[in-house]
Amino acid sequence: MKISKLLSISTFIFVFAVFFMFGACEKEKISKQVYKTQNVFVIVVDGARFSETWGHSTRQFIPYRSKMLKEGVLCSNFYNNGTTFTCSGHQAMCTGVYESINNAGTQLPTNPSVFQYWLQKSKSPNIQSWVIASKDKLEILSDCVDPIWNGKFKPSTDCGVNGLFTGYREDSVTFNHLKTIIQNNTVRLAIVNFKQPDVAGHAADSAAYLQGIIDTDKYIHDFWKMLQNDPKYKNKTTLIVTNDHGRHSAGHADGYISHGDLCEGCRHIEFFAIGPDFKRNYTCETYYEQVDIANTVAELLNFKVPTSTGRVMKDVFRH
Ligand SMILES: [Zn+2]
Ligand SMILES: [Zn+2]
Repeated sequence: MKISKLLSISTFIFVFAVFFMFGACEKEKISKQVYKTQNVFVIVVDGARFSETWGHSTRQFIPYRSKMLKEGVLCSNFYNNGTTFTCSGHQAMCTGVYESINNAGTQLPTNPSVFQYWLQKSKSPNIQSWVIASKDKLEILSDCVDPIWNGKFKPSTDCGVNGLFTGYREDSVTFNHLKTIIQNNTVRLAIVNFKQPDVAGHAADSAAYLQGIIDTDKYIHDFWKMLQNDPKYKNKTTLIVTNDHGRHSAGHADGYISHGDLCEGCRHIEFFAIGPDFKRNYTCETYYEQVDIANTVAELLNFKVPTSTGRVMKDVFRH
């Protein structure tokens, strides 16, 4: 072989090796990305249809969130692709797995939730992780059936009138409890449920349904302000706003009154996020879905949800 040919082969190998090493470093950098988020709150507006929130032409029922979008990100193609009822929807975002579970609060999810994984990994006291809900049945989010996890690493709960099977309470009560809980503790990971749009929808009270959307919008705004006025949370807290499910599309079945099937109105839901790691004034059109919330929360707080089928919503992050 000629010397010149040998030289060109060794040059090629050298260049390839440099590229390979550089690539490996880049990968390392990505996997070790550090987020500014230290605390995550997920607020669920129960059963608000996308067409009355972000999908409305004037967005008149969510005036506060419309303004907050300047500092946050909206996913306009976000879906519940599982069972469009309260317990199944909430458990999908918490476990990252779609599962059809009983909607009366008599059945725990099969898989462990982000709360259990986070409490295990962080070794934090469970007073730092919460399930806070107007609907008592959502206490089921604090545990799962998996025998390795059942009864272990459970978050604190504050659901319904006084826990499971004690009935629903007003969202104003839930909001007051939320305020007290975040003041008395440093809450690192929590889910909050406001019930009113769903309850008023089922009652076929369209005015109360819209008022429920307006009222929860104000709670979300006031809560965000509260976080930014508290050094424990300011500039290091992520707030995600979503729905467990929508409601039937107009003209389908009984329209806004009910939900539970696979129509566009039931499946198309909100994903709004605001916090130090999210893009600002940005509408993300990537198709994401409810189970992705688990992985996205876990990515921000540096833990894994190995049982989840969801993915990290990377397109909503700033970097
Ligand atoms: Zn409902
Ligand atoms: Zn439907």
